Amino acid sequence: MREVKNFINGEYRASSAGKTFDKLNPCTGSLFAKVHEATREDVDAAVKAARDALDGPWGRMSESERGAILYKVAEGIDARFDEFLAAECADTGKPYGIASHIDIPRGAANFRVFADAVKNFATEAFQTATPDGKGAFNIAVRKRKGVIAVISPWNLPLLLMTWKVGPALACGNTVVVKPSEETPTTTSLLGEVMNAAGVPPGVFNVVNGFGPDSAGAFLTEHKGVDAITFTGETRTGEVIARAAAKGLRDVSIECGGKNPALVFADCDMDKAIEGTLRSVFANCGQVCLGTERVYVERPIFDEFVERLARAAADFTLGLPDDPRTDMGPLVSHEHQQKVLSYYQLAVDEGAQVVLGGGVPEMPPELAGGAWVQPTIWTGLPDDSRVVREEIFGPCCHIRPFDTEEEAIALANDTTYGLASAVWTENVSRALRVSTAIDCGITWVNSWFLRDLRTAFGGTKESGIGREGGEHSLEFYTELQNVCIKI
Ligand code: NAD
Repeated sequence: MREVKNFINGEYRASSAGKTFDKLNPCTGSLFAKVHEATREDVDAAVKAARDALDGPWGRMSESERGAILYKVAEGIDARFDEFLAAECADTGKPYGIASHIDIPRGAANFRVFADAVKNFATEAFQTATPDGKGAFNIAVRKRKGVIAVISPWNLPLLLMTWKVGPALACGNTVVVKPSEETPTTTSLLGEVMNAAGVPPGVFNVVNGFGPDSAGAFLTEHKGVDAITFTGETRTGEVIARAAAKGLRDVSIECGGKNPALVFADCDMDKAIEGTLRSVFANCGQVCLGTERVYVERPIFDEFVERLARAAADFTLGLPDDPRTDMGPLVSHEHQQKVLSYYQLAVDEGAQVVLGGGVPEMPPELAGGAWVQPTIWTGLPDDSRVVREEIFGPCCHIRPFDTEEEAIALANDTTYGLASAVWTENVSRALRVSTAIDCGITWVNSWFLRDLRTAFGGTKESGIGREGGEHSLEFYTELQNVCIKI
């Protein structure tokens, strides 16, 4: 059985209190790893190591020198691709087909992209007129922010953690990462890659544990932390924002969504079905950008529902390394209970269950896993909880609409504002509708097509701030203006 330790100052350390917790395999329910829970003292040691490392060799390196090391980190992930893949899929239960195309390659890419981006990240300069006629120059100097606390979720563990660690390190900061208690393994493995790549001790640290009264709270409330970057649920984001308010630390918050897809009658139906199938069911519905509300123009409503349900009914549920697998289990039994409670609630709220709605029958060796059926509903009122709350499972509600204005109003009728998808072949409509939706990112005739230079983040309860390209670099640096009188 695997042991996952904390990674502090370049070495793996057991919990100082000898405390461990169990990590179960979501496919089978069997014990996969013992994880060392960081105590307050362990978190103190990690933050101290990160602070000391700020003024060590890391802080004195040029951007190019740091960039070369981050390239080696990416190469280290590539070289151990199979190990990262197996660990990520064992933690999450997701199919190799997804993790080998998205999670692991993006995990490596996040280091290369930001190592390059930081080299082209300009500052500003202004010439100022002064009464004596001689003038002054203002030159902005960009500096690292300091020790960054990284709190990451379980749905795309390596990808979302490196999405923060990559730019933070490229800008010269040091980090203490608290990965999700559900998926600690690849973050821990990254410590070995960091050491092999020549990242100095203390630059990258990992503390394991839970949120409240555990490593998450110890880290975010720690006075030695200069800024916090968080991805996870909105309710947790509010707690993190409160922690960040103490000492007025900067905070970046990426939270949940209840994302709409608008399917117009002038869409390419094959493309819309294929894209919506992915946006609803990929990663067993555990993608923050995933679609949970589908609105379809009435003339094509019946055909769309029928075709989407037929395609989803064909999914093969199974083990990550089985090439036939389309969908894995949910991440944990706890999350399975949450999703199943919404499956029941949908029925109670009057849904028509078009597909699924329960637990699939699995072979005996997988019967202990966190499996749920892909599920589609119609007929729910707009104010039902199933239509308003993020479920984070392989499910969606489909509702007809009659006009473009109605579709936009329905899309915006949510407290969230993360992502949306618009399916139409009419370019004017695509522009009109996509810009009328209040959210951070809209895909037209596609979904999850990401250019890492572009802004990523949410409006309303989906978050604060933007990540991606220069937006990430902006967060991980401080501008100091130097005013020089001539
Ligand atoms: P979560 O909020 O339960 O946990 C996220 C992280 O926060 C974990 O590491 C957890 O241990 C930690 N945490 C929990 N309570 C804490 C506390 N009081 N103090 C400090 N840390 C604490 O989220 P999750 O269940 O791991 O992830 C799923 C959620 O993440 C969904 O809502 C999903 O939409 C969202 N998400 C958002 C994005 C995005 O980019 N916007 C991406 C992926 C996931």
